[in-house]
Order: sequence, then structure tokens, then C-alpha cells
Amino acid sequence: MERLEKCQICGLKIAVNSCKKCGKGVCENCFHKAYNVCLACLKTVNR
Ligand SMILES: [Zn+2]
Ligand SMILES: [Zn+2]
Repeated sequence: MERLEKCQICGLKIAVNSCKKCGKGVCENCFHKAYNVCLACLKTVNR
């Protein structure tokens, strides 16, 4: 049985990345590569 975790932000795509901050699995669209965080956490990250 396949265990493909879905994105915990949009819930639509398969999570291919994990947020460095909250640890959630997120898809490409919901992941910010530069910060290695999900878009939800990106808002809390100050440059
Ligand atoms: Zn997503
Ligand atoms: Zn996050």
C-alpha cells in the first residue's frame, strides 16, 4: 500500500519537501526553497 503524504498546506499535491521549521510535508508550490520552510512559516520568518 502506497503511503504518499499529501501537502499539509494545500492538501492537493503530494508532499515532496518538509518544512524545516514546523516539519510539515509540503508540495513544491507550498515550499520556499531559499528558506526551506513552508509558505505558512515563511510569513513568520524575518529576513
Ligand atoms: Zn501544497
Ligand atoms: Zn512550516
